[in-house]
Amino acid sequence: MAHRAFELLDGALDAPDVHATHEHLHGCARCRAALAGSRRFLAALARQSSVAPPSLHARVAAQLAAARPVLTGPGSRAGA
Ligand SMILES: [Zn+2]
Repeated sequence: MAHRAFELLDGALDAPDVHATHEHLHGCARCRAALAGSRRFLAALARQSSVAPPSLHARVAAQLAAARPVLTGPGSRAGA
């Protein structure tokens, strides 16, 4: 059977295919290593996106403050 470890991560497989892929993983060190590496990468990605560094927070706050005068909406009518 084909090396389909990455499709496990996608959730793209039907139940029988998931089972077959797990069976395949038992006998295929290459897929196990690839899957473990991908899971580490995804976990790192999840950590990064949930905790923004303070420098990024400050930069986004500054850009929002700078952009405010050009925003249009209910608030911009008050001064006109
Ligand atoms: Zn494999």
